[in-house]
Amino acid sequence: MNVLVLNAGSSSLKFQLIATDPAAITADKDVRLCRGQINRLGGEVVIEVLMRDGLRKKFAASTRDMQASLEHLMQWIASDASGIGEIRALSDVNAVGHRVVHGGELFGESKLITDEVLKGIEDCIELAPLHNPNNIKGILAARQVFGPKLPQVAVFDTSFHHSIPEHAYLYAIPYHLYRRHRIRRYGFHGTSHRYVSERYRRLRGISREQTNVITMHLGNGCSAAAIRGGECIDTSMGMTPLEGLVMGTRSGDLDPAIVGLIATKESLSPSETEALLNTQSGLLGISGLSNDMRVLQEELEGHDDRRVRLAIEVFCYRARKYVGAFLAAMGGSDAVVFTGGIGENSADVRARICTGLEWAGLKVDEKRNQQTVGSEGQISTDDSSLHAFVIPTDEELLIARDTVRCVLGEPHFSRSESPSTADGKRL
Ligand code: ADP
Repeated sequence: MNVLVLNAGSSSLKFQLIATDPAAITADKDVRLCRGQINRLGGEVVIEVLMRDGLRKKFAASTRDMQASLEHLMQWIASDASGIGEIRALSDVNAVGHRVVHGGELFGESKLITDEVLKGIEDCIELAPLHNPNNIKGILAARQVFGPKLPQVAVFDTSFHHSIPEHAYLYAIPYHLYRRHRIRRYGFHGTSHRYVSERYRRLRGISREQTNVITMHLGNGCSAAAIRGGECIDTSMGMTPLEGLVMGTRSGDLDPAIVGLIATKESLSPSETEALLNTQSGLLGISGLSNDMRVLQEELEGHDDRRVRLAIEVFCYRARKYVGAFLAAMGGSDAVVFTGGIGENSADVRARICTGLEWAGLKVDEKRNQQTVGSEGQISTDDSSLHAFVIPTDEELLIARDTVRCVLGEPHFSRSESPSTADGKRL
């Protein structure tokens, strides 16, 4: 089955075309036909495509909106110019899978998109005003381009966190605010946490019930998830993606009184204060230099700048603190799994986070850690009782696989999913 995976943003549309079929769900034979991004929506767009042989193509189109640009892209993909033999016409795309940021309390699993599901995604706009409207635009654009009969599936960033119990998702504020405004922890990056925990399960050949891991998604946005018995029981992001770990430009946790204090002292409105915490804080805020971990690490090596060092130290300390908290919340864990651009690539950050967790049984194998860059593998010593792994995330693949399952009406991830076989083949 050829699945087009879409991630619609305010000014861009990311896409990936994956040839998968029911057998591929268990056999890892999915083929990425191409992936890329339509940029500068609203103006004349620029389309960038990475072909499966590594060739990059870039071309401008005179289209401005999402629908016309998607149509343009699909025409190009189906033409001889693209060289993608599997797609000769729009009808060769069998389904579209969408990343949808917020499913609120409504969606605990991926859903075949019907008018009712679309209405549910609309109901969640209040919870993700910057994201859900774009995701809806993407769904409507695909409906226009491919016609209403083509199955489309919504895969929610929040749904993996549906299993978080009440005591972990409620904030200690007046209960009626939860009832009235749905103020609670939802968590994000669910597709990534789910993908790496399922991949871990496969690597170890264990069942879902036996999966007890702390997953650390460290990218531009960062979050941790506590996964016990294959289910997420807590996560660091909250009502919005601002809570929790230190991120590229987001503060993560802070004393809530600071918000009002900054607003008063700096004469900022509530939304300006929120923007400051979202876009000028985190690694960028402390270092005053960059939100990019690579840049900070190069600077640290070259000049040992004090604020750059501090930014990295605060980042790693916060991450370690969450590992400790989740160990307590879970009653112990078998492994810490690193993913995301930083988690997959920075041996130094991983070592800094793990240093000081020897008490919990985690001993980093220096050589394995240094060698595991952008690849999958164990980075702890064999005699550790708490292991550490690196597992590159692949949200698009999970979206494509969920899409296939929804289209075929097969059971996919849900809390009631029966355990996988010991060979861990069911992803
Ligand atoms: P996003 O959350 O936007 O998907 P990524 O997961 O790609 O972002 O992560 C981006 C982050 O990963 C940036 O801070 C980048 O500097 C960092 N990163 C990528 N490669 C490396 C590397 N080799 N060493 C350190 N950090 C890296």
